[in-house]
Amino acid sequence: MNEVIRKNVADAKTPPNMMEYAVARARFSWEDARRALDGLPGGGLNIAHEAVDRHAGGARAQHLALRWLGRNGGVRDFTYADLSAWTSRFANMLEELAVGPGERVFVLAERIPELYFAVFGGLKRRCVVSPLFSAFGPEPIATRVAIGEGRVLVTTTGLYRKKIAALRSRLPTLKHVLVVRDEPDDSIPEGALDLVALLGGASATYRIGPTDPQDRALLHFTSGTTGKPKGAIHVHEAVVAHHATARLALDLHAEDVFWCTADPGWVTGTSYGIIAPLTIGATMIVDEADFDAERWYDTLAREKVNVWYTAPTAVRMMMKGGAETVHRRTFPELRFIASVGEPLNPQAVLWGMDAFGLPIHDNWWQTETGGIMVANFASMDIRPGSMGRPLPGIEATVVEHLADGGVRPIDAPGVEGELALKPGWPSMFRGYLNEEERYRKCFVGGWYLSGDLAKRDADGYYWFVGRADDVIKSSGHLIGPFEVESAFMAHPAVAEAGVIGKPDPVAGELVKAFVALKPGYAPGEALRRELLAFVRKRLGTAVAPKEIDFLPSLPKTRSGKIMRRLLKARELGLPEGDISTLESS
Ligand code: ATP
Ligand code: MG
Repeated sequence: MNEVIRKNVADAKTPPNMMEYAVARARFSWEDARRALDGLPGGGLNIAHEAVDRHAGGARAQHLALRWLGRNGGVRDFTYADLSAWTSRFANMLEELAVGPGERVFVLAERIPELYFAVFGGLKRRCVVSPLFSAFGPEPIATRVAIGEGRVLVTTTGLYRKKIAALRSRLPTLKHVLVVRDEPDDSIPEGALDLVALLGGASATYRIGPTDPQDRALLHFTSGTTGKPKGAIHVHEAVVAHHATARLALDLHAEDVFWCTADPGWVTGTSYGIIAPLTIGATMIVDEADFDAERWYDTLAREKVNVWYTAPTAVRMMMKGGAETVHRRTFPELRFIASVGEPLNPQAVLWGMDAFGLPIHDNWWQTETGGIMVANFASMDIRPGSMGRPLPGIEATVVEHLADGGVRPIDAPGVEGELALKPGWPSMFRGYLNEEERYRKCFVGGWYLSGDLAKRDADGYYWFVGRADDVIKSSGHLIGPFEVESAFMAHPAVAEAGVIGKPDPVAGELVKAFVALKPGYAPGEALRRELLAFVRKRLGTAVAPKEIDFLPSLPKTRSGKIMRRLLKARELGLPEGDISTLESS
């Protein structure tokens, strides 16, 4: 697809934070980005201070920080002053429970206000905070709390009974389980403490102790798309990147209403669903409910959302329902839409234009990078299908692997290689918990290797090819699943597509596609042939799949990523491996 979406921001009602990419890149320094924050009064840097207390202590104290939308229609509003008080109560409560700096606080809850109090309260106390997906089953919870040596767990009465009670004896490090009632008349289970009561009895002022920017702050587990999830460690200094990238890549302004649809159980929901918008002083929407297209459109319109950050899987679900559904409302305040987590098919970028009158801006990053690294910016032309260009302050390249184990940056445009970043940005992970060797192996020849394959065009735009593990080698060609999947997505019958390599004695691997259809289309031989011909015409015979299977939906992680390794394991009758993050359908 050669279409380019042109941007003209000269007369924009809200001028972008970054007017010109080249200029911003040339001028940017992480020292300046650090100076845009306050730092603790006595020196040092703490995420909770930058996100909450510095606003609560200044002109934005009464500004709406968080609007919580309950699943059943309830609304709770928190100003920066309110958030500061609740999070201080949480920190004081930890202190009273003799939980000290460096100890781990896990949060296993749906998107309830207490989750947000716990994250910042834990950070104020200088604990290491780790939010988990509430939909995890008991085993994934037990493994993560065990390897993270969780000292405190914040959860709800229902989740405690269903998932935690039976595990307690296996988690010797876990000293305190703090629960929030799901229903007002729920009893507090034995062995747990009533969080709301404890917060009510704690002081609403707390002085954050000295925090070194390099102190551990967050423990994030990766999505488990390619294998067993890894625990990535992040430090307080990451907030410098959260703040700078939210300004530059999401174009977030202090007066904005911002909605990140990701759950805090994966890194997007923490970096941009909790921390970054508050560092800017913006208003953040939190919706307790899960995806529902109509509810989402209503929310965007009613809450006058200006900047919206979502994911390809959600976009594909919205596309399934059609743009007509969107057109029943108007969104005059919506200014910028972004997406992350998986490749965003060109069709999805353009669908944004059709549905909302705005393109969807793809950006790329990982749990390990802690913040957005490559992005399509508000002021920059979009090449649909490209992840955009590296953030100011981020040096990226694609490298080839050498026979001696080293790597070499590829200068020529259009050549595929592994996407690599020059270490040194503040939100870079500082380790994989208990996997020192694996962490070390990520760094070769002065580069951090991402495990993703990409190519860069002559103008410095990056194009995602596939995860190194997912790339298919067929008759001497290297085939990225993304390109093939995008060809399927261009067909009106296709809702989702996942592509794998299937071992073949002649070709090495054959391309096989799994396709889920939109409502109104039924699988069948005629459609199979039509799809094969359709993608062959776009991709050529060497790259086009030889086989297509229809599935009702594709297996995905809870963060919405297609699990190609699972499609492959099932196809080949191999063990499914770690499926702790598999979304149950
Ligand atoms: P695991 O590392 O456990 O296999 P994961 O890599 O899916 O899981 P995350 O850190 O949540 O865990 O996801 C980061 C990965 O998601 C990236 O390495 C990349 O493969 C994919 N990704 C994220 N954003 C994009 C994007 N805009 N385009 C293409 N791929 C993306
Ligand atoms: Mg990964």
